[in-house]
Amino acid sequence: MLNFRITRSGDESLYDKDYDVVIVGGGPAGLVAGLYAARAGLNTILVEKSVAGGQMATTERVDNCPGCIEGSGAEIGEWMRRQATGFGLKWANAEVLSMNLLADVKMVLTSEGRLRAPVVILATGARPRKLGVPGEDQFWGRGVSVCATCDGPFMEGKVAAAVGGGDSAVKESDYLTRFAEKVHVLHRRDQLRADRANTERALSNPKIDVRYNVVVERVLGEDRVRGVQIRNVLTGEMEELPVDGVFVWIGMIPNTDLFTGQLALDDWGYVVTDARMATSAPGVFAVGDVRAGATRQIVTAAADGAVAALGADEYLHKRTERGLVSPGVEG
Ligand code: NDP
Repeated sequence: MLNFRITRSGDESLYDKDYDVVIVGGGPAGLVAGLYAARAGLNTILVEKSVAGGQMATTERVDNCPGCIEGSGAEIGEWMRRQATGFGLKWANAEVLSMNLLADVKMVLTSEGRLRAPVVILATGARPRKLGVPGEDQFWGRGVSVCATCDGPFMEGKVAAAVGGGDSAVKESDYLTRFAEKVHVLHRRDQLRADRANTERALSNPKIDVRYNVVVERVLGEDRVRGVQIRNVLTGEMEELPVDGVFVWIGMIPNTDLFTGQLALDDWGYVVTDARMATSAPGVFAVGDVRAGATRQIVTAAADGAVAALGADEYLHKRTERGLVSPGVEG
């Protein structure tokens, strides 16, 4: 049985203080970074504007998180939060407004006050680009998904729609056919933009049917998804396509607005890190979906968090050896 230490941070102000580590973002990557850093004795605070769990919190059921045999994504997020705060992680519900990541001691300005630390771990994630059509938000996590690995198994023997024409759409649709009986790839143009190998593989899959020149106008259903209304952009013709799930793969948007210009990003706007999750700025680490090359899974995000926290500990020790006192040391 896990033995949680009770955090006694009840009435102390979390803001306008110095820490060893500030973590921005409370998904699995940030929470595991917080667990490892706090458990290693680092004075660590995590800032999250919403609930614990990040994208995971929007999922009803999580099958592929080790040991998570019950609970919704939101519940698992909350359990991860409780586990980390039990080891002394401070949890701050606030919105980050700006950051200065280039100084030796970094500054994170939140809606509630300032946080200072020599180490910042960025776990701000990425958000899936949405279609913005009626029904999409209503059925998000209940038939509308962006994750074939997570929700593919729920499509066993069923029919799915996959929206998009890029590598994600065709590659993930191909994966979906391990479960689904049929996958309708709905693309707004007359040709796919995925690379040749992915395209050929998808087009030769008898379970995949690509519909060109169509856009989704509405996701249909009552309790769960029962279809999509599509419109042919050339003819204007409308059609109701019966499907049990809708997978939206029209690109991701990394959440980097708060530090654009301060860190090296790749061509798609993701933060470049080395194998230790260190970014181009000393003392700044990036973990999870915001990181270039991320696998976008709960376990890999969690692993990033652990690696970054160990790297942060090492960075702080080296910094202390250089004679710089960590502002996070209290008393
Ligand atoms: P992309 O940006 O490559 O593709 C997005 C797709 O969604 C495009 O076909 C685009 O249409 C379509 N789209 C965008 N907005 C809308 C909308 N509002 N309604 C309908 N359709 C829309 O994103 P991916 O996630 O597929 O890939 C991101 C990057 O990652 C790419 O560089 C890709 O090559 C890479 N990648 C590589 C993989 C690999 O195995 N090599 C696997 C996955 C990703 P349109 O074509 O008209 O713009």
